[in-house]
Amino acid sequence: MTDAALARALLAWYRRRSRDLPWRRTRDPYAIWLSEVMLQQTTVETVTPRYRRFLGRFPTVEALAAARERDVLAEWSGLGYYARAKNLHRSARSLVRAGGFPRTVEGLRALPGVGAYTAAAVASIAFGVPEPVVDANVVRVLCRLHGLRLDPKASPTLRRVRELARPLVSGDEPGDRNQALMELGALVCTPRAPRCGGCPLRARCRANALGAAERYPRRPKRKVPTNLRLVAGLARRRGRVLLVKDDEIVRGHLTVPLFRVPARHRPAEVLRKGWNDVTGGAVGAFEPLGELRHSVLDRRYVVSVFAVEEKTTSASLHLFHDARHRTSRGRSRRRILLLRESEIARHEHGGLLRKILALGSRASRKV
Ligand code: SF4
Repeated sequence: MTDAALARALLAWYRRRSRDLPWRRTRDPYAIWLSEVMLQQTTVETVTPRYRRFLGRFPTVEALAAARERDVLAEWSGLGYYARAKNLHRSARSLVRAGGFPRTVEGLRALPGVGAYTAAAVASIAFGVPEPVVDANVVRVLCRLHGLRLDPKASPTLRRVRELARPLVSGDEPGDRNQALMELGALVCTPRAPRCGGCPLRARCRANALGAAERYPRRPKRKVPTNLRLVAGLARRRGRVLLVKDDEIVRGHLTVPLFRVPARHRPAEVLRKGWNDVTGGAVGAFEPLGELRHSVLDRRYVVSVFAVEEKTTSASLHLFHDARHRTSRGRSRRRILLLRESEIARHEHGGLLRKILALGSRASRKV
């Protein structure tokens, strides 16, 4: 089976079996770019409704460029990895200044946050550039097709896969050819239990011929997760939640004050000692709300959460309290934001803060 015959079989399979996803009904580079950015680190199921909603709010690159960053972040709220939204927004402004989208991979890669994958996807789907898109699905399919037991994340593997994909995506409709390879990896050539019986590439697949599809590519070594204990304090001043910028878990995200609990220390004591350094207030009373678990990459956190009642502080009079000076113990206080829960969506925040607030709401309903 030649590469051309393989590509035809793949394209025919894609036309029959691919999922009907909203970003596949358009050639608008803005809509395609948005979908590719949203789909990084996020599942199709989560992205689909959010993609429609985002496009409803910012239907064009001009509309996105004209928006305020805080409104873009609010629309992105809950999708995580807020750097993606900030880069989209910055790129939209530079695209509007430049008068539109560049039509080349190199031009697209010059935009903030656009890497090889996104540039190839937008260039091929929106502009018909025959550039291979290499994601984890494509690496898996091609390593199996050619019987390559390589490290799927290593740069030499990605370069090799890109060259192996090139003949399959060259020709008419390179965007559909790229999407066909990715879709095959998502639906048929899955990491576990690939459905080789229904695969259009089976006749030429080396891994299938060896009867060992799952052994390709090489399994990356799993990092041993690090377990960490934290304590968090949930306090309100004038009906607003006291928040700081995180520098422990996801840098730059808003969170309630959080402290690492060393071995053999009690969370409550760590909280009491650390509170003043970070917030400029002193703990009056606190009450345990419960414990929750949270994972970020290879770190697993167990977080003890307390409701904190502060003794009155001068800072309580202000909605914004900048306390960056050095304390007597040499630690730097952080900028405090006091926000209503409804206002938090306009700021970068993550799953941990949402879990802590949910725990707080459940506890207050029980009272
Ligand atoms: S035959 Fe099996 S292993 Fe080979 S590409 Fe198809 S699904 Fe993957």
